[in-house]
Amino acid sequence: MSKQTHSFQAEVAQLLHLVTHSLYSNQEIFLRELISNASDACDKLRFEALNDAALYEDAPNLEVRVAFDAAAKTITITDNGIGMSTQEAIDHLGTIAKSGTKDFMSRLSGDQKQTASEQGQLIGQFGVGFYSGFIVADKITVESRRAGMKAEEGVRWTSGGTGDFEVESITRAQRGTSIILHLRSDAEEFLNAWKLKSIIGKYSDHISLPILMEKEEWKDGENDQPGAMVKTGEWETVNKASALWTRPKKDITAEQYQDFYKAISHDFENPLTWSHNRVEGNTEYTQLLYIPAKAPFDLWNRDKKAGVKLYVKRVFIMDDAEALMPTYLRFVKGVIDSSDLPLNVSRELLQESRDVRAIREGSTKRVLSMLEDLAKHDKHEASEGADGVTDVVSDEDKAKEGKYTAFYAEFGAVLKEGLGEDFGNRERLAKLLRFASTTTDAVSVGLADYKARMKEGQEAIYYITADTLAAAKNSPQLEVFKKKGIEVLLMTDRVDEWALNYLHDFDGTPLQSVAKGAVDLGKLQDEAEKKAAEEAAEAFKPVLAKLKEALKDKAEDVRVTTRLVDSPACLVVQDGGMSTQLARMLKQAGQ
Ligand code: ADP
Ligand code: MG
Repeated sequence: MSKQTHSFQAEVAQLLHLVTHSLYSNQEIFLRELISNASDACDKLRFEALNDAALYEDAPNLEVRVAFDAAAKTITITDNGIGMSTQEAIDHLGTIAKSGTKDFMSRLSGDQKQTASEQGQLIGQFGVGFYSGFIVADKITVESRRAGMKAEEGVRWTSGGTGDFEVESITRAQRGTSIILHLRSDAEEFLNAWKLKSIIGKYSDHISLPILMEKEEWKDGENDQPGAMVKTGEWETVNKASALWTRPKKDITAEQYQDFYKAISHDFENPLTWSHNRVEGNTEYTQLLYIPAKAPFDLWNRDKKAGVKLYVKRVFIMDDAEALMPTYLRFVKGVIDSSDLPLNVSRELLQESRDVRAIREGSTKRVLSMLEDLAKHDKHEASEGADGVTDVVSDEDKAKEGKYTAFYAEFGAVLKEGLGEDFGNRERLAKLLRFASTTTDAVSVGLADYKARMKEGQEAIYYITADTLAAAKNSPQLEVFKKKGIEVLLMTDRVDEWALNYLHDFDGTPLQSVAKGAVDLGKLQDEAEKKAAEEAAEAFKPVLAKLKEALKDKAEDVRVTTRLVDSPACLVVQDGGMSTQLARMLKQAGQ
């Protein structure tokens, strides 16, 4: 075929213009995009070769090579993937097939007020695929030969990134594609091995294909010439080439999981636990989620970015993808790798995507299961079954002992935010709550434990909120409960009051503050006590009337109570009223 000139689609021309004019701040993404295409091409070959192994020809090891030529001012990215036929090069490199990109274009041109730098940020987030090469190049040459086709059926595609491109036939023995970027003068900084390696490390470490670069070594200059780095002809792999999460669980050691955690979280300690799963079904993704051992210093900042990284088909897309985890699980770290999302997904699109919602729900449930598992194995009381056999604890379960207590001390208060934030999982969250109580100072009593210990006839879960454990324990409002041996939960977290607004009952039993309204002990009060209380109320009527008059502007009501044993009087809040604790909190906050 002789040389032919084709025009780009109108949208492509427009996109090229934007790409070259507004992406200075984020130039380096061109390499991410081109390596990602190379990796896709290898994936495609692998897939087609499932039915036709001959496609591998004599090069079964798939790889990507990144080379640069300082004198010619070119960077070349070569893969031995599926390659392109002439028609494919015309079709795929000259049109915008991706719906995501079309959307993106219409958004960019829809609001002309946007400055070039804002457009640049947008493009950076979306990624523009092949055309991102024009960020650094004023001319791109693509040479390709499709797997299975003859060497003479190769194609050379060339464009200066303005309005048109040329294609011609070439002979190319090697299967796959080379993208040759002729760098613009303002992009020559990329003609540098160290720079290229660091970009590959940043974006493409987890591409599971090896990415190779030619080794360089220092050579002293001769005859007064300065020394220089020279190519050695030897190639080395510069990425880690292991997307840990894509490997089967059984092939990964605990140490490898821990190292990976440290690499992505910048934490020095090992995580408490992790969970690695491949989720199949309508939305397919892999999740590798970690629970850290220690809270970061800025845990309380609800605007803090979540710690889950988003990958699409092993290509890094973004850090802190908040759409993937609810705010109350902001301490979770890890990776989610989706097979369904487009590579050019933006934060805005993430918020709207159905797939993302499914991933978020699935991941939330996964985190809750991890916590449930830790909670289950938190304490092991050696128990002897009815058959006289002591149950055996596996080493794995033993390793989990005490971890939930440790987790809760660090993150329990954040978890409580979930009661108000995640209605769908409220019951599961409620089961994960732990409190101190009148039976133990340790924050270890779950609502289920409490329920199991309730007195016969007890109809509510009683709790008190206070600033400190000592204040809670010594509150006069607890007197009658102490006397009757009824357990009361002691809540001292600042969020407790707020969180409990969202938890009216647990497993059918209402939660009742001992500091609110008339405490109705119901069946816990015997007949004699009830009668005595009624008589007292009658006898004290004149006193009450006087007190009421005296406290007219200060108290809503004055009542005879059965909740006190030793103290003469206490303040209580009306049922449904704001608790004293909450009122104090609001006052502190200046309201
Ligand atoms: P996307 O990767 O999202 O499809 P791109 O703009 O990055 O969009 O690439 C456009 C198309 O060009 C690809 O879908 C593919 O068909 C083709 N292509 C790009 N690079 C290569 C390559 N290295 N090998 C084979 N085909 C490629
Ligand atoms: Mg691409």
